[in-house]
This record gives sequence, structure tokens and C-alpha cells, in this order.
Amino acid sequence: MFQALVTLLIILIILMIVCVRIVSKKVVRNYERAIHLIWAAIVTAACYTVFILVPPGHDKLAVFTSGLYFLATDWLVVFLMFFVADYTQIKPPSKLPRYTIAILTGVDSVSFIINTFTRHMYDLQSVTAYELGANYWDIQLKIPHAVHRMFVYGIVLYSLYILTYRLIKAPVMYKSKYASILFQTVAVVGVNVLCSIIKAKYDYSVILYASLAMSICYFALYAAPRKLLERIHFTVVEDSVIGLFSYDSDGKCVGVNQVARELFAGDEDIFAIADRYLADWIEEHQGSSLSVIGAERTMIKNGEKVYIYVTYQKFLDKKRRNLGSCFQFEDRTEVVRNFKEEKYRATHDMLTGLLNREAFEDEVRRILSRVQEPYCMVCSNIQDFKLINELYGAEVGDKLLMAQADMIRGEQEENAASARIYADKFSSLLPKRSFDEQMFIENMSRILEFGEESSFRPHFYIGVYDITNVNEPVWTMYDKAIMAINTIRGNYGKNVAYYCEELLQSIMEEREILGEFDRAIEEERFNMFLQPQIANNGTIVGAEALVRWIHPEKGMVNPGVFIPTLEKAGLIHKLDLYMWESAAKKLEEWKEQGKENLSISVNISTKDFFYMDVCKAFRALADKYDFDIKKLKLEITESALIENVGEIMKTLDGLHALGYEIEIDDFGSGYSSLGMLKDINADILKIDMIFLQETKNIGRSNTILKNIISMSKELGMPNIMEGVETKEQVDFLKDAGCDMFQGYYFAKPMSIEDFEKEYC
Ligand code: C2E
Ligand code: CA
Ligand code: CA
Repeated sequence: MFQALVTLLIILIILMIVCVRIVSKKVVRNYERAIHLIWAAIVTAACYTVFILVPPGHDKLAVFTSGLYFLATDWLVVFLMFFVADYTQIKPPSKLPRYTIAILTGVDSVSFIINTFTRHMYDLQSVTAYELGANYWDIQLKIPHAVHRMFVYGIVLYSLYILTYRLIKAPVMYKSKYASILFQTVAVVGVNVLCSIIKAKYDYSVILYASLAMSICYFALYAAPRKLLERIHFTVVEDSVIGLFSYDSDGKCVGVNQVARELFAGDEDIFAIADRYLADWIEEHQGSSLSVIGAERTMIKNGEKVYIYVTYQKFLDKKRRNLGSCFQFEDRTEVVRNFKEEKYRATHDMLTGLLNREAFEDEVRRILSRVQEPYCMVCSNIQDFKLINELYGAEVGDKLLMAQADMIRGEQEENAASARIYADKFSSLLPKRSFDEQMFIENMSRILEFGEESSFRPHFYIGVYDITNVNEPVWTMYDKAIMAINTIRGNYGKNVAYYCEELLQSIMEEREILGEFDRAIEEERFNMFLQPQIANNGTIVGAEALVRWIHPEKGMVNPGVFIPTLEKAGLIHKLDLYMWESAAKKLEEWKEQGKENLSISVNISTKDFFYMDVCKAFRALADKYDFDIKKLKLEITESALIENVGEIMKTLDGLHALGYEIEIDDFGSGYSSLGMLKDINADILKIDMIFLQETKNIGRSNTILKNIISMSKELGMPNIMEGVETKEQVDFLKDAGCDMFQGYYFAKPMSIEDFEKEYC
């Protein structure tokens, strides 16, 4: 019996040392506390083994080693308590109880050491047990030992209390985690109490200390957590937001979680559905050796479309043998919806719901990449849209844009795209056959009606580009439609313009002109040409100054080519200033040379009045150059006079006051020539050459001419006829009473040198 006990203790000690090594290698939760516990158990068992091996007669050694044993049990229960506290997570609120217990244990330990000499705790007596065939040490306990025992039991009871508390409070799946330790501790204490009650010769609970320490390690650190882990995994799977079908190696479904059940809910057995799902999947993905395959699917759940991302995963062991497989069904509906919403926001104009610039480009590219029939790009633009916002408020402006978008959308058929490009600029790509110009105009006009009270009717423009090359950049197509609009901008009689290749040509030419203009002025490439003006008695009265651009590459360029461009770009006043100055300078020169009888007429563009103070400019010329003011005549076209009567009247008065004479140029070419005459205080009437042009009704033309001439006489205004080309015309005009002539019949516009040679 004795040998068996000693052998068992030694085996346990060795096992515990192995256990410590294993635990310290595996880093698991609470392992440090567990190691302390096992070490305490090792020391306890070792001390006890040494103690019972002490032979009779060595009382002092026996008392000392047994003291160490008691001392070790003290620390064993203390470490047990610390372990339990950590394990159950029930810790004293402060560190004080831990320190107090450690100090008390220390005092108890010292007391046992001292007991070797004082024997105040207990005494030993060697007894021979014949039935055991060995001696054993009988312990005679004294009162202080009872204090030690109470202290130890107190600690143990506290440990049992917190374990029980945790056991009761914990969810079912966690109970075993505490139960295993609780029952073993109860068993150890039970045996210990039993040993002392029956006054056993040996304390058999030492064996249990050792096994308790080891099994705590096993249960607390491995078994319970593993079981727990399984349960947690099961819960995770069951409650997962991802649907799951799990299959065994034969492809039979063995598990379906909550989400998957809901997703595939139907009349049929869910496992049968799952089996078929896998069979279909395998058929679809035949030949794929991948162990994970994903695919996007849509399903109908509660009558609504849901987007599912399906992942199929095969589980293989190290030798690539099939262990089973599973499907994961991830509901992506929310993500897809958000993505769609985001995409919508990124590709659409928020106000009108039409496409935005970027998306329009993509869509046009997409449509044009597969069209079989002619397409066109239609752009629209409202004149003075800014004004609408300012007059009626942005809300009205927005409503108007939305109405236009609705109209465009309403008319739009498949394989067409529409966008709001910017502000009030809309653009559509549509099959040529579906563009109904008249309907578009009618719809737009209706949208732009501002109720009956308002007389304001914004004008709008539509530019159409018939696409000739589908591979052209989208924005080139758009630009071409806008170019078409630009040709009618400001023309209130027109709404629609079509792009043609000549337009591009003319735009290119315009750009070239504008690009070269400043340099041409600097380099004095604009020359003043003079076309003589002849009185009806045949004498020369003067000349009209007409500009010519002496271009380094193109040679002489006539004003018809560049003047409209410069006017449109707001640059004509620069050129005119230059021409006026050239004329003034020439008049000064002529005056110095005694040729004072000759006059020069200069042209004033309508646009000059917008960009500068014309009156001031001529005052400056009069100040700078010494010439007879009357000899510098100013030609203003009648259309200029009609457009801004009020403003220009003031300017004309100013010019008159300075002493300049004003000629009405191109008289008869405009709409309200006669009406204008009654208000405008001009000096000379220059009759437009259209009355001399070939016409079927030459008789009527001549009648009008005669009347204009006689009217000018009655108004007391000298007249001059321009564009005279033949002798017959001269004769006719002389008869009619024309005062002066200008035209090719007499001379074409010529350089100053030529003019001076001929006429001075
Ligand atoms: P305009 O003021 O009516 O000038 C008369 C135009 O008629 C000139 O053309 C002239 O060469 C042309 N012409 C003269 N006699 C005849 C004729 O017998 N038959 C025909 N068919 N044509 C004749 P040009 O020089 O090409 O000038 C064209 C227009 O350019 C001018 O028309 C004028 O409006 C504008 N322009 C010319 N120089 C200037 C300038 O310095 N400043 C501004 N603002 N405009 C100018
Ligand atoms: Ca003129
Ligand atoms: Ca003219």
C-alpha cells in the first residue's frame, strides 16, 4: 500500500512536469495561472512524498517536510482561487483581498516552518503499521492548526462559491466550462475532509490535488473551450447573416442554416432543394477544378428581387480527398441597390433626371457602336436663360428645365440618349428619322410660354448635326451642333440650324482671322484703299476709305472676308480706329500739300457704338491732326441707326457738334429706311447698290431710285450712288438728279499711291 502510494505520487509528479511543459508551449487563455497551479501541486506532492518517506527517529526532518507540505497546500489553494477568479472573470474589485490573502498565506507558511522547532501547530509521532508493512507519521493537531485549516477551507469555499455562481448565471452552453472544475474541486475537498474525519494514515487527497491540477488544465484549457468552440461555431453558422448549405463527401446536404431556409423556403423539403442545388451547380461548373467558385445570382424572395452572391467551397484534406462542401449565400441586395443608386447619381443630372455629360458620352459611344441607320445629334439652347432666372427666380428656371427634360424624355425612343450638358444646354442623340423638327419647335415653344400675363417669350435655338462619321469624338459631334446654333444666334426669326462642312470651314477661317488679327494690326498689314467718288459734273470730290488686309501668305484680302468675323468677336473698333486715323492723317497731309478739296469717307461699324465712345474718338482725331473736319465724312449703315436710335442720336449730335458730316450708308437695304429718315439728322444719303443690280423688274427698281433721289433733294440731303458700273447707269442717274457716284465704272478701290497718282 505504502509503496503503491509513493509510486503513484512519483508518477503523478512526473506527469505534472510533462503537463507544465505542454501547457507552457500552447498559448491558451489563463495558461499562466494554470502553470502556477500545477507547480504548486508538484511541490505539494513532492513535499508529501518526501515527508512520508522520512524514516522513524528523524522527527525534526519529518516535522519540517510535513510543514513544507502544509505550506504548499496553502499556496495550492491560493493559486486555485486565483485561477478560478481569472477563469470565471469574477475578480475582486481591488487588489487588496489578493494581497491580504497572500500575506496571510505567507504568515501561515512561516508558522509551519517555525513549527519545526516549536510544535505549536502540530506534532508527529512515528507509528508502525504492521498491516501496511511500514511506519507512518501520526499527526497530533493543535489549536493553531485548526486556524490554518479554516483559512484554507475558507479560500476553497470562496472558490467553490464563485464557480457555483458562474455556473448558475451562465448560458447553458457555458455551464460545462464551470461544472467540470467545480465538481473536481468538491471531490478533492471531500476526500481531504474524509481523510481527516476517518483519521486516515495518509492524506489521499494529495493524489487528487495532482489530478485536479492536471484535469483543470485539460478541462479548463482544452476540453471545455473546444466543446464551447464547436457550439460557438454552430451558433455562428446557424445565426449567420450568410445562408449556408453544408454537404457531406457524397454531396448529400447535412446542414441548412436559418438564412438559407428562409431564402429557399418553399413547399419542398429544404434538404431536397439543397441536394438539387448542388447537382445543378456541378453540372453548370463541370470541369472546374477550383475549390472555391463564386457567382452572382438573383432570386425572388417574398415577391421581391434579391441579389445573392453564391460561393461554393469544397473541403479537401491534405491528400486532396473530398471531405465535403458548402454553399454560402450572401444577400447583396442592399449593396447592389446602393451601388445602383450611386451609379445613378454619378451618371445623371439630379435636376432633370437626364444623363449627365460623362454618362452621355459613354451612352452615345455605346449606341453608335452598333447602329445601322443614320443618326443625328440635336442640341438646344435657350436665349438669355440667365435672364429668366433673374426675372422669375431660379425655381421657375428649374421648372422650365424639368419641363424640357420631360418633353425630351417623352419623345425619346429606344436606342437614343439625352442629357443636360450644362445649364440650359440639352443634347440628344437620336435616329435621324425620329427627329421631327416642327414638333420639337412646337414643344419648345409651348414650354417657354410664361402664362398669359407675361409678354416675355424666350427665344430658343436648336442645332442639328447629321452624324456622318460614327467614330468621331462625341464632343466633336456636340460642338458641331452648337456651331450650327452659333450661326443663328441673335437671329430671332430662326430656331433651327443644321451643321454643314462649310460651317466648319468658315469657323476655322474665323479662328484663323482672330488668331492673326492683333499681329496684323501691330505690323500694319491693314491698308487703307481709296475708291473715288465723282460729282455729276465729272469732277472728283473725294474717296471712300476701304480696308484691305495685305496678308503675308494670302496676299490681298477683301473686308467681306474678315469684317463680319471681327464684328462678331467685338474687335472691329480696333481696326476702325486705325482706319479713321489713317484717313485723318492723309487729310492732314493733303491739306499741307494744298489738296484741300478732297474728302475721305470712313465706315463706322454698328458694333463700334458698343465698344467705344465714337464721339470721343473723333474729337481726339480732330485734336491730333490738322485737317478740315468736314472733309472726313462718316458712313453709318442705316441698320445701325435703326437698332439703337436713342443712343446713336446722341452720338450723332455730338459728332455734328464737332463739325463732322454724316452719311447714311446702304440706304434702302434695310427694313425701315424711310421711317428712320424722319428722326435721323444726317447730311448725305448714300444709296445702296441693290437698286442697280440686275433684276427682272428693272422698271420698278428705277422708279424707286428716282423717288429716293428726289426725296433726298426735298429733304435737302445730297445723295451719292454706290456700285455704279455702266455708262447707262450713269446716264440714267444723272437724269434722275443724282449728285455723286461711286463704282467700278469710274474706278475700283485702289492703293493710296495709285489714287494720288491718278487724282491729285
Ligand atoms: P460698303 O461700305 O458698302 O463699301 C462699298 C463696297 O462696294 C466695297 O467693297 C467696294 O469695293 C464695293 N464696290 C464699289 N464699287 C462697286 C461696283 O461698281 N460694283 C460692285 N459690285 N461693288 C462695288 P469692299 O471694299 O469689299 O467692302 C465691303 C464692305 O466692307 C463695305 O461695304 C463696308 O461695309 C465694309 N468695310 C470696308 N472697309 C471697312 C472699314 O474700314 N471699316 C468698316 N467698319 N467696314 C469696312
Ligand atoms: Ca461704306
Ligand atoms: Ca455701302
